[in-house]
Amino acid sequence: DGLVTLSSIIGLAVYLSLMGIEFFTYIRRLHEVQNAVDQQKNTLEEANAALHQQIFQIHDLQEKLRDQANRDSLTGLFNRRYLEGTLERELARCRREDAPLTMLLLDIDYFKLVNDTYGHQAGDEVLRVFGQALQECSRTEDIVCRYGGEEFLLVLPKMPLSIGRERAAQLLELFRRTTVPFDNFRIPVTTSIGISATPDHSTTAEGLIRCADQALYHAKSRGRNRVVAFGEA
Ligand code: GH3
Ligand code: MG
Ligand code: MG
Repeated sequence: DGLVTLSSIIGLAVYLSLMGIEFFTYIRRLHEVQNAVDQQKNTLEEANAALHQQIFQIHDLQEKLRDQANRDSLTGLFNRRYLEGTLERELARCRREDAPLTMLLLDIDYFKLVNDTYGHQAGDEVLRVFGQALQECSRTEDIVCRYGGEEFLLVLPKMPLSIGRERAAQLLELFRRTTVPFDNFRIPVTTSIGISATPDHSTTAEGLIRCADQALYHAKSRGRNRVVAFGEA
C-alpha cells in the first residue's frame, strides 16, 4: 500500500513538473510573441508618423506650387492668370453686397526708353520697385497684379469711383516722386493710369478691362503722367 502511494506521489510529482515546464515554456513563447507584436506595432507607428509628415509636406508643396503659378516671378505680384480667375468672383461678391468696384490700369511712361538708356536689368529693377510699392500701399482686399510687361492692374473691391480717383492720383504722385537707384543712377519714371468702375462703366470683367484700357489710351494720348477715368472728356 505504502509503495503504491509513494509511486503515485512520485508519478504525480513528475507529471506536475512536466506540466510546469510545459507551462513556463508556453508563457515564455507568449512573451516573445507579445514582444514581436509590440515591436511591429512601434515600427508601424513610426511609418505612419513618417507618412503623415510626408503628406503634410506634399500639401505644403502643392500650395506653394499653386501660389507660384499665380504669381509673376519678377515682381512677386499676382499674374494675369490669377486675375482672370478672381475678377469674376470679386465682381459677383460686390454685386451681391450691392457694393462698387474700381479698377486701375497703370502703364509706365516711355518704359522702352528706360531700357534703352539704362539697360534691361535697370528696367527690371524699376518694375520690381514699383511692383513692391503698389503692393505696400494696397489694402488687404485689393488685388495687385502685373498685367503685362510694364502694366499693372489694380482691382479695388468696395471702392467707389470717386475714392478710386483719389487713390490713382496718390499713385501717380508716388511714381512721380520716386526715383529708382540702379548702379550710380537714380532712374525717374512717370505713369499713366486709366480708371473704370462698376456700376458706372460696366458690370462685367471684360467690359471693365476694356473701359480701363480705353481710359489709359486717352491718358497716354493727352501727354502721359496723368489719370483719366473712362468716359472723361
Ligand atoms: P508708353 O509711354 O506709350 O507706354 O511707351 P513705352 O515705351 O512704355 O511703351 P512700349 O509698349 O513701346 O514699350 C514697353 C517696353 O517694355 C518694351 C519692352 O521691351 C519693355 N518690357 C516689357 N516687359 C519687360 C520686362 O520684364 N523687363 C524689362 N526690362 N522691360 C520690359
Ligand atoms: Mg505698355
Ligand atoms: Mg508704357
